[in-house]
Amino acid sequence: MNKQVEKKTVYNISQESILLAKKTRTELMEKGQITVICPKCQEHPEIITTPRGERTMVTCKCGYIISVDINL
Ligand SMILES: [Zn+2]
Repeated sequence: MNKQVEKKTVYNISQESILLAKKTRTELMEKGQITVICPKCQEHPEIITTPRGERTMVTCKCGYIISVDINL
């Protein structure tokens, strides 16, 4: 319990946010479109890939959904 609280405070990222980011990525790969909606800002998250493709970011307008993947 203590560990969980600590983690949440440090990163301020909820489990839901992580799951939504994962879902966004999966949807884009499988369907080519995003139907995930952020529960806070009601907007679709965006997927941004850096020009060389070394990083993939999933973010939404309000910042509730945020996930960065480093592709090595
Ligand atoms: Zn949002």
